Amino acid sequence: MIVAWMCLLPLAASRAAGPELVRDDNGAAAATEAPLPFPWPEARRAAVSLAYDDALDSQLDNALPALDRYGFKATFYLTLASDAVARRMAEWRAAAASGHELGNHSLFHQCSGSAPDRAWVAPERDLDATSAGQMRDQVLLANVALQALDGRSRRTFTAPCGETLAGDGDYAALVAPAFVATKRGIGPVTDMATLDPDAVPVDAPVGVAGSELIARVEQAARVGGMVNFTFHGIGGDHLAVSTRAHDELLEHLAAHPDIYWVDTFLEIMTHVRDVRTRPVD
Ligand SMILES: [Zn+2]
Repeated sequence: MIVAWMCLLPLAASRAAGPELVRDDNGAAAATEAPLPFPWPEARRAAVSLAYDDALDSQLDNALPALDRYGFKATFYLTLASDAVARRMAEWRAAAASGHELGNHSLFHQCSGSAPDRAWVAPERDLDATSAGQMRDQVLLANVALQALDGRSRRTFTAPCGETLAGDGDYAALVAPAFVATKRGIGPVTDMATLDPDAVPVDAPVGVAGSELIARVEQAARVGGMVNFTFHGIGGDHLAVSTRAHDELLEHLAAHPDIYWVDTFLEIMTHVRDVRTRPVD
């Protein structure tokens, strides 16, 4: 399946820099190991997923208006038990109606209580004390709750804390069929050819400057890849990035629409799956 899109790459590469050629000792040309650029829509150089975890007030107050100002569509991964879901349900529903994705971030945000610095994990929400079957049931129920909010049946998932190892085993495979893709694990997306749609690593910036965020999307554009941002608070709440840094990133993305494809994680990963299964001429 991966081979299918690699065979299509000359189409995209003709409009963008392909792999560099080097000469060996005999003067023969050989491709370097650099990954090939991925064929994003309209020959853009990088896909950028802007995602916001945990259903926080600062996302509705600060991130959403900024996104709407630029016309960018993002993904808000709702923890359904979050106070801000019940209190501001009409606003989440309106965000979905305007084209943003409401992603699944589970009902109760279970993370491993035994991991370092996890004093905040309540015993009844400890992933170590929850079975994989319980996690499957809860994540699937969260999809029903989200469908009640937005009327949609296709969406993506972000594993709380990037963790899926429950008390008696890993629940990732039990819920994967219910999603187009899953954000799981931390780190950059380094090679689209080996990217697993069910375990797309996230870049979760905290307290960084706008220039640092911009450097990350510029790097993705250089290699024809993607940046998979997962923010938390924007100008408030936990693990925050300032509204200024966030705005500077959006301004940069908006200034280069020919380079960056900004869309929901659902749309980006639907495209990735489509390219991989496209028949080869
Ligand atoms: Zn979270």
